[in-house]
Amino acid sequence: MSSIFTKIVNGEIPSYKIAEDDRFYAFLDINPLAVGHTLVIPKKEVDYILDMDDDLHADLWNFAKKVGKAVEKVVPCKRIGITVIGLEVPHTHIHIIPINTIYDMDFNQPKLKLAAPEFEQLVINITKAWKELGFGE
Ligand code: AMP
Repeated sequence: MSSIFTKIVNGEIPSYKIAEDDRFYAFLDINPLAVGHTLVIPKKEVDYILDMDDDLHADLWNFAKKVGKAVEKVVPCKRIGITVIGLEVPHTHIHIIPINTIYDMDFNQPKLKLAAPEFEQLVINITKAWKELGFGE
């Protein structure tokens, strides 16, 4: 059975898409720890990041770096925190999280509840930043 993230890539489940290319896909986390919390995934379904092929793994991190730069251009924060957990969804994903303190990376804290228009505005702003940074359409 396909993972929920494969279904997102295939358009079977909706997502707030930030960026994609032929191998990677970035979209807003639906239960964000912070405004702008974004997930970056390989389109190829690999459960565990350490099982990834070296080239795909390296390129995933390079794609995530660009996503982090686009998010940080839009969301005021001290840094972009980057982490991999993967205990919930068995499809490799990198969390890109705008942070101001270490506690902003605490996955035990309550998630934010954003309304659809807030997600949609983030998509508009971050995809605009993506283009302005020269990362593509
Ligand atoms: P983990 O596997 O522990 O790294 O967490 C999976 C992450 O995926 C969580 O932060 C969820 O909020 C997020 N998530 C799960 N389903 C969706 C979805 N349909 N769209 C966006 N984010 C999701």
